[in-house]
Amino acid sequence: MPTILSHTAPILALGAGLGTKHVSPRLLLAAVFFAIVPDFDVIGFHLGVNYANILGHRGFSHSLFFAFCCGVFGFILAPFLHCRRPTAFFLLFTAVFSHIALDAATSGGFGVAAFWPVSDARYFFPWRPIRVSPLSLRAFFGARGIAVLKSELLWVWLPSAALLLILFLFQRGKKTR
Ligand SMILES: [Zn+2]
Repeated sequence: MPTILSHTAPILALGAGLGTKHVSPRLLLAAVFFAIVPDFDVIGFHLGVNYANILGHRGFSHSLFFAFCCGVFGFILAPFLHCRRPTAFFLLFTAVFSHIALDAATSGGFGVAAFWPVSDARYFFPWRPIRVSPLSLRAFFGARGIAVLKSELLWVWLPSAALLLILFLFQRGKKTR
């Protein structure tokens, strides 16, 4: 996985870029939370669940179906999140979807079970520029950790910043029109 923090970058950029008129602070907070929810599956490692198992890391919680369910959850909770239902669906779905896409672009581990429950197969993108983050903290603090952070800055944070800038300019253009 990219580091937990980096998983929040694309959705932070999207939510902030769309502006508070569409995305309430509560919705943005929920979306950031849902961008890391798929990795709660690492608890399986401590419970003895095999990595390759669909309950294991990058299993069912890294599927489009799971992303859809999170979107539906947002749709239902929209009044509490102070936003329109389609916006809540879109943002929570995209939060989980971006997580899955980033994991599928990493250089190691197992692929994501993107098409569960239709298939348990694990998938990667053909092009995987993001260095996989070590799961143990000890391994993270060292040369490997620095290489991971460098690749995340380049392939996650930089495109996210570009997205934020584009959305910001687009919103400003709309206001001045
Ligand atoms: Zn993940």
